[in-house]
Amino acid sequence: MRRLGLVAALLGLSLLPSPALAQVKGVYWTTSGFFGPFNIQGLIPSIPKEKARDVTIPVSMWIIDHPKGLVVVDTGNNNAVVDGNCKSHWVAGMCDFLKPSQKRDDTIDRQLQKLGYSVDQVKAVITSHAHLDHIGNIKMFPKAVHVIQKKELYQAWWPEKFQRDGGAFVMADFDGPARDFNYLELSGDYDLFGDGSVIVLSTPGHTLGHQSVKVQLASGKTIVMAQDAIWMKENMEGYPAGLNYSVKDYNDSITRLKMVRDLENAELYYGHDQDQYKAGGGKWLR
Ligand SMILES: [Zn+2]
Repeated sequence: MRRLGLVAALLGLSLLPSPALAQVKGVYWTTSGFFGPFNIQGLIPSIPKEKARDVTIPVSMWIIDHPKGLVVVDTGNNNAVVDGNCKSHWVAGMCDFLKPSQKRDDTIDRQLQKLGYSVDQVKAVITSHAHLDHIGNIKMFPKAVHVIQKKELYQAWWPEKFQRDGGAFVMADFDGPARDFNYLELSGDYDLFGDGSVIVLSTPGHTLGHQSVKVQLASGKTIVMAQDAIWMKENMEGYPAGLNYSVKDYNDSITRLKMVRDLENAELYYGHDQDQYKAGGGKWLR
């Protein structure tokens, strides 16, 4: 064994896997501009009046710096909505309600540039779901592997009737060249790099094939990007989001993420939480 170790050392090999190599150096949390201000009851109608408040919410996007490649989690609102041009790309009612404040520099390509990266360096784009504020700029990443639940692709292309009219799925975000992208079409959880450091978690309910992402950081911390499985802290208090494919699946997914938080000591980040973003957004988590 000792001799084997010596040979391995001479060859520059390690007999044991090196977890340090496999771990994520950092995760950057940013936003594709903001939505609002509007009354929280517009999003979460079940909130009682006495708990209602006006919110201005982030549109969370994440950049994961993994030794095997750069990963983007969600690409935000389409660049066409920047600088007040929302109605050129989204239905008018959605623009009037959400009031996106996105500037050109808030779009994912510029966010990557600010950190010293280019869109071509991105190896994988994980899309939590196909709503307009999450899948908006996948066309900026024609060379990446696109990680999405297969069911979510079905739903994006042909939403349920009750979800069709509101304009939450924008065909122009994923038509044309995006049809021929290199999709990793999932049916459930997935270990992205095979080393346990970036795990896609199936969290349906908000949409048919919603997914969240769990990251093991080199520091030993575990973080979970819930994205729209949990919009904001009020959803954790039992008030479900007003826009769900299935409320039952939605509740099961929140329970699942709470278990990950409690059993794995993970930090749970919500997709659209004003206060959480104010405290931790716009910086590297390590
Ligand atoms: Zn969203």
